[in-house]
Amino acid sequence: MKRITLLIPCYNEEGNLKLLNQKLREITKQEYYESYIFDILFVDDGSNDNTLDIIKEICKENENTYYISLSRNFGHQNAIKAGIDYINSDAVITMDADLQHPPELISEMITLWEKGYDVVNTIRLDGKNQSWSKRKISKLFYRIINVFSCVNIDAGAADFRLFNKKVNNELKRWNEHKLFFRGIIPWLGFKQYKLKYYPEKRFKGETKYTLKKMISFALVGITSFSIMPLRLSIFVGIIFSFISLVLAFYAIYINIFTDQAVPGWASIIVSILFIGGLQLLMIGIIGEYLGKLFIENKKRPNYIISEKSIYEANNASSE
Ligand code: UDP
Ligand code: MG
Repeated sequence: MKRITLLIPCYNEEGNLKLLNQKLREITKQEYYESYIFDILFVDDGSNDNTLDIIKEICKENENTYYISLSRNFGHQNAIKAGIDYINSDAVITMDADLQHPPELISEMITLWEKGYDVVNTIRLDGKNQSWSKRKISKLFYRIINVFSCVNIDAGAADFRLFNKKVNNELKRWNEHKLFFRGIIPWLGFKQYKLKYYPEKRFKGETKYTLKKMISFALVGITSFSIMPLRLSIFVGIIFSFISLVLAFYAIYINIFTDQAVPGWASIIVSILFIGGLQLLMIGIIGEYLGKLFIENKKRPNYIISEKSIYEANNASSE
């Protein structure tokens, strides 16, 4: 029988887990799923509420349910990576713990996988269940990323996807410190499918992606997949050199052929401030990449596990 693991990163999700577990159990009980073994793997990303206790309780009461608990909060992407490294099944489905990702879509994902797709991505359509600001910020986020990065990331791409063992094994080899699966997955290639869905409302709790986190996530997305921003400084540099050359000729002309007074103070100050600001911006961009190099160079682990349950699939043959 084929084994499918549902990988669920959880950070302070105490209000959602029981209902999520119940929904997943109900769905996977249906006849359609009879020929599969379903695992659920919860990754507790250093929650400081009762998430871990609830996960343990769920694991005790249910078969094929496992958990990993990280030593502190390492972030959504690293929590997914911890799960990927742990899993050894035929297919993995990553989904959020807050019931925003409709479990009803799972059967469709599996059908597509059985048809031969290596990855089944989901694309979030703008629904009434999302706040106006979240929709706008998310749109802007993808627009900026797509201008700069060399992989095409769909607006509304979500970390709700199915991928097979082949892809999971590739992802295990991934050692980048700052992970951005929405970029890594399209970069990988393989046969991929995009499934559209309307997100549900977050059931309980608050979003963990604050504006600050979203900006930092966008920067990771841009700087992980492109050196375009660095090249930007070359283009801007060329344009400004050209402008200054023209101005130099103009100054020579004024000096030699006219007896006009010294050109105005304002224009000098404005250009100094403008060019100064621009240089700082470019240095900032270089700094961002340099910082990334610095962090990657340390080769620190992406996460640290404080405890985990024994995963039977690592011993059992799944075929
Ligand atoms: N999450 C996590 N670690 C974090 C932040 C979030 O494991 O540091 C989990 C969170 O519990 C949820 C998923 O990642 O299952 C997505 O987070 P959230 O729902 O807050 O994001 P949103 O849907 O608002 O973009
Ligand atoms: Mg959510």
